[in-house]
Amino acid sequence: MKKLAKRNELLGTETAYAVSAEASEYVARGIKVYPFHLGDINIITSQNIIDGCMAAIKAGKTGYCPAAGIKELREAMSWEMNKDRDTDYTWENISIQSGGKPVIGKFLLSLMEPGDEVLYPSPGYPIYESQINYFGGVIKPYRYIETDDGFKFDIDYFKSLITPKTKILIYNNYQNPMGACSSEEEMAELARLAVEHDLFVLSDEAYFDVFYEGKGKSIVDYPGMKERTVILYTFSKKFAMTGWRLGAACGPKWIIDSINKINTNDEACTTHFIQYAGVEAIRGDQSYSKELIKTLKRRLDVLCDALKDCPGIKYVKPKATFYLFVNVTEAMKKMGMTDVEVFRKDVLAKTGVSFTTRNHFGEPLPGETQKYIRFAYSGINEEEIIEGIGKFKNYIKSFY
Ligand code: PLP
Repeated sequence: MKKLAKRNELLGTETAYAVSAEASEYVARGIKVYPFHLGDINIITSQNIIDGCMAAIKAGKTGYCPAAGIKELREAMSWEMNKDRDTDYTWENISIQSGGKPVIGKFLLSLMEPGDEVLYPSPGYPIYESQINYFGGVIKPYRYIETDDGFKFDIDYFKSLITPKTKILIYNNYQNPMGACSSEEEMAELARLAVEHDLFVLSDEAYFDVFYEGKGKSIVDYPGMKERTVILYTFSKKFAMTGWRLGAACGPKWIIDSINKINTNDEACTTHFIQYAGVEAIRGDQSYSKELIKTLKRRLDVLCDALKDCPGIKYVKPKATFYLFVNVTEAMKKMGMTDVEVFRKDVLAKTGVSFTTRNHFGEPLPGETQKYIRFAYSGINEEEIIEGIGKFKNYIKSFY
């Protein structure tokens, strides 16, 4: 009697949530946990944004609103996009969403026919693969190469994946979980390939503003990209608004119109009064957001300092995101471990330090030999970083 539709078997999940559940069990047993597994932010949203929302509720913005979002927010969003990118979006190029995440599925539903091939990063945000599979696409994971200057596109491998059936490129710059930051040359080459092979591009820019040196740059700025690119924008990271669920799809009107139609069929509209919080986030005082980025940068510095002299690991300090992707291959070899999940569980059990591994961001690709863990530092304070990493380091050192 109990039988779900077959397609549900194709739907993946974020296995990182299982790490959260495991960490919570330790906490419930009274064990101190250092939460490096969370991609959430332990800093409350700015008061002016909260006030913007409260004022909207009090003003009666409690009914339905247009499926595409309120015009004030769509206009604010187009301004927000154009100020940092070489775009000339108007409000009609913006579809308001309940977070950045829904943009992924709605973009695929709008453009991907069953059987179309989709290029996406591995390791990468696991929802790409889940939704490509769910909506009948063919997964084509591409990879990065670790260099002394951070993670770079394996461009030859990338090119080898492209066939006449390849229709979409999902590109996440700046990248979760590796913290990879494309150089201008890398982005230009990707844009050139997208144009040459007539690919649509989903540019996931969730971390565009979590950038520590100057300003981020979008692939939409390169020749031939505006007409084929949809940008995933989110309020979650830049404004510490993960739980509000507010984001946007930004791109060519004909694609945005399709996404709006899906909104109508799906959630009807993003929560009406929350959208006024979004207007305040964009139009209001930016000092809180700037301070947030500074806090995250300090945490990154503290984390890297604390990891100094830790044997058997290597990493490159990223310029963006709130993740540090650490190669632990040498340390694991020294311990006689081959499974990075075994390593993760052992560290958690012995030190309380909780993190995710490469395996939470897609199956390792054929030929992949290096082992990686991801420290997220958005949900943990500086003192705890120092204490936790001290324990992690002692644990590793005990094998040397
Ligand atoms: N894209 C990437 C790469 C992410 O890491 C996340 C969240 O962690 C999202 C999109 C979606 O975030 P949200 O739905 O909170 O906007």
